[in-house]
Amino acid sequence: MKIVLASRNKKKIGELRAILSEYIDGIEILSLDDVGIHGEIEEDGDTFEANALIKARVAASSGYIGVGDDSGLCVDALGGAPGVYSARYAGDHGDDEANNDLLLKNLEDKNDRSGRFVCCIACVFPESYRYEPIVVRGTVEGEILCERHGEGGFGYDPLFYVGCLGKTLAEVTPEEKNGISHRGNAIKALAEKLSKLNLK
Ligand code: IMP
Repeated sequence: MKIVLASRNKKKIGELRAILSEYIDGIEILSLDDVGIHGEIEEDGDTFEANALIKARVAASSGYIGVGDDSGLCVDALGGAPGVYSARYAGDHGDDEANNDLLLKNLEDKNDRSGRFVCCIACVFPESYRYEPIVVRGTVEGEILCERHGEGGFGYDPLFYVGCLGKTLAEVTPEEKNGISHRGNAIKALAEKLSKLNLK
C-alpha cells in the first residue's frame, strides 16, 4: 500500500514509515516530490486540523492515500498562542531563536506557564476507497521554562519542560522524544485507525 505524505522533510517521512509499518504490513511512504507534486502548499487554516486536511488533500490528488500533518505549541496563559502560527510567531522568517525570545517576553508577567505541543494528522482517501477522511490529534503536556536548556531538537524544544522526563525536549534523545511526543502519539493514533480498515 502506498501513502503520500504532504512533506519533503526526510525525518517526518522516516518517522511515519517506522511507526505505520509496525501496524500495517507492506506500507510504502512517498513524498510529494516522489509523485511529481512540486511547490509550496498554502496552510491558511485556522486550526491544526484544517491545515492537516489541506495538506492531505493535496497529497491525495496524486491518486494515492494522502496524509498531511500540522503541529505547534499552545500556551494556556497566551490563549493557545502561538498555535497554528508557531513557525512564524516572530515573523515570516520561521526563526526558532526569535520565536523563543518572543515567547519568553510574552510570558514574562505570567505565573501559569503550562502548555502543550499538538500534532494533527489527516488522511484523505482516493474516491475508490469510499472512506471519509480520518483526522487524529496527539499532544504532549509541559511547562515553558524561563530560559533555554539543551542543544537538541528544534523549534521550542529548549524551553519545553516535560515533567515525566525531568528535562526539556532539547535534552532528550530523538528516541525518547518520539516515544512521548505529540507527533509520535498522533502517528500511533493514525496507525491504529488505518489498521482497522480494509486497505490494499
Ligand atoms: P510543523 O507543522 O511540524 O512544521 O511545525 C510548525 C512549528 O511548530 C515548528 O516550526 C515549530 O516552531 C513548532 N513545533 C512543532 N513541533 C515541534 C516540536 O516537536 N518541537 C519544537 N517545536 C515544534
